Parts: sequence; C-alpha cells; structure tokens
Amino acid sequence: ISSKLPEVGTTIFTVMSKLASDCGAINLSQGFPGFDCDPELLDLVDQYMRAGLNQYGPMSGVGALRQRIAEKSKLVYGVDLDSESEVTVVSGATEALYAAVAAVVKLGDEVILLDPAYDSYAPAVKLNGGIPVYVPLEMPDFSVDWEKVKTAITAKTRLIMVNTPHNPSGYVWTQNDLDTLAELVQDSAILVVSDEVYEHITFDGRKHLSLLTHPVLRAKTFVCGSFGKTFHVTGWKIGFCLAPPRLTEEFRKIHQFLTFGTVPPLQYALADFMSDPSRYLGLSDFYQKKRDLFCEGLKETPFVFTPAQGSFFQMVSYGHLSDEDDYQLAVRLTKEIAVASIPISVFFSDKRDLKILRFCFAKEEKELLDALEKIKNIKI
Ligand code: PMP
Ligand code: GLN
Repeated sequence: ISSKLPEVGTTIFTVMSKLASDCGAINLSQGFPGFDCDPELLDLVDQYMRAGLNQYGPMSGVGALRQRIAEKSKLVYGVDLDSESEVTVVSGATEALYAAVAAVVKLGDEVILLDPAYDSYAPAVKLNGGIPVYVPLEMPDFSVDWEKVKTAITAKTRLIMVNTPHNPSGYVWTQNDLDTLAELVQDSAILVVSDEVYEHITFDGRKHLSLLTHPVLRAKTFVCGSFGKTFHVTGWKIGFCLAPPRLTEEFRKIHQFLTFGTVPPLQYALADFMSDPSRYLGLSDFYQKKRDLFCEGLKETPFVFTPAQGSFFQMVSYGHLSDEDDYQLAVRLTKEIAVASIPISVFFSDKRDLKILRFCFAKEEKELLDALEKIKNIKI
C-alpha cells in the first residue's frame, strides 16, 4: 500500500531500547524512570480494581481526577480551571497532542513546529492534512528566535506547537518567551498546543511557566500533560489536556473516537494520590540530585555539555573530538561500552547531525554511576 507516512520508520525510542536490551546495556536512551512508583499509588489502583471499577468510565475522565487537576493548576500556577468544561483526561500526552491537532488542523493549514521537536508532532500534523513549517531553535541552548517565528507566520498558519521544558534540550521558557508568543498570536486566529509533560521537573531554582498563566495564551492554548512523567508510571499512558471550553468541546469530539476513555481505576487512584501536593511539588529537587550527580560524572568524560535546565534528559556534545555521525555513535556505544543513548538528529526535520547525544538520568544512583564509569572509558 502507499504509505501515509513514507518518511517515518520505527521510533528511535523503540530502536534504541531494543538494542540496549539485546546488548545487555544500561538503557539511558528512551525516557522512562529506572525505578518504580510510590507503593501507595499501587495499593490505590489495587483497591479500585478490586472495587469493580473496571468498566468504561466517563468519556472526559473521572470527575474526581479532573477536579484534582484543576486544584493543582490553581495551587501551582494560580489559574482557575473549570474541571467540567476545561479539563479532559486522556491516554497519555501523545493522545492529547494528536487530538488537539486533529481538532483544529484542516487540509492545507500550516502548523509551526520548533525544530528539533518531539517525534510525534510532525506525523500528527501530516496525518490531519496540515503542512509543518519548521523554525529552527537557536544554538547552543535551543532557545526560540521569535523573529524567525514571526517571519514563518502566514495567512495559512493555524497552529503553533511548543514544548517547555523542552525535549531533548531541557530548555525552559522564560516570561519573555510567553509574552512574545502572546504578542504574535493575540490578534489572529492562530491557536497553540503546549506540551508541558516535564512541568514539574525544572532545575537551579527555575520555575516552569505554563502557558495557562498568560491571559492571552490561556484563551488560545491546548496544554498537554502526562502523569507518566510526574508519578514514575510512563507505561500507564495517562495524561490530560487543558483548554478553554470552546476548544475542549472540539478536543473531546476527537478524543471520544480515538480512545473514548482511559482506565478508570488508574484515574481514581491518581485522584486520591494527588490529594497530597508534596507528591508532585518535590519532583524538581528529586531530579536535580540526579542531574547533578550525572553532570558531575560527565566532567570526567570527553563530552562537553551545559547542565539541563529541566526535563530528565542531559545532552552532551562530541563534535570537537570526532566526525562520526550521532546515530552511529549511539549504536556503537551501546555495543562497545553497554550504555544506550539517543542521537538527537532524530528530532530534527532534516535529521541534522550536530554531534549531540541525549542521556536520560531518571535512574537509580547506582545505575547512573555504573553508566558514568563506562562512559569514562569511551573511545571517540
Ligand atoms: N511529549 C514529550 C516532550 C515527551 O517527552 C513525551 C514522552 N513521553 C511525550 C510527549 C509523551 O507522553 P506520554 O507518554 O504521556 O504519551
Ligand atoms: N518521551 C520519551 C523520550 O523522549 C519516549 C516516549 C516513547 O517511547 N514514545 O525518550
């Protein structure tokens, strides 16, 4: 058959995790915690499953969980959300991103993507008849050049997709980023999708600035989030979308035909678990220790790097040492030193090779130290 996504193969996360497993390597490639979630969360799931809450739940999500998400937005961002008309629980941020794009993008619409971007954005745009328009992020910190975004806007621009804290770079948006985006879109019909899955993971005293906090953006944005990242349960594929009522209405029209709903006992359990905000407020400190430990060790390797501002990824450069392409190097390191990473060329529209690898540091201290010991011995 003729492919609808001819340029797409199997995602790099599947490729590298399989290679890591085949080679018995430490897997710092695909982003997932190397430790389990809080046992109390598991007890709650067990309790709700045994209570018989195993049939379809409400399409927009269990009310108690939507309520908790609204409470969290008030507590963390000072933003009032109506849990009935502005909060939808979905099967992972991936579904939220897809459904938001599908809800608003029509054939021939242009969608601005900041390059590099998470690998699900462009396929979502293309499958819905949209045309991705790529705006390169600025090196070396992957910040946004707003003049370039302004130049990319045309009468056909329907949507801008953004991501803070950013995967793979960890760049965290500033107030100026929010203000400038708001200025660019405020007198237009352009909408925004904001991927904020790492909202609770920022370092060195930085604060995540949700697009919800800006009044102009609040009225135009689908904010996509994930419980997977926040509660160490990436395999549960459970997330949410926050958007004003008229956008949520359209979003739910798509969600109801994509998945309809998300595992109810997980939703009830998360609602109970989130009643204690310290369970998500402490996440930045938790991951900062890991980032610091990993960066300290990296100083003894040939790589050069700037510590990540947020997310649970650390990028490292090796271009001063070698011309080897980043994909080949990631594969070779997995085979030779048994540490797997992600070559970041995969996140670029043109697969540009900046000689940068991405390591996930959401791992136990021991695993990070073992990996660092191996990385110290690399031959580049
Ligand atoms: N966006 C970004 C930036 C991510 O790193 C991820 C990775 N998990 C996702 C979205 C997808 O989140 P989920 O697993 O909840 O679908
Ligand atoms: N978000 C994760 C990463 O960037 C991977 C998610 C996935 O495997 N699809 O590594």
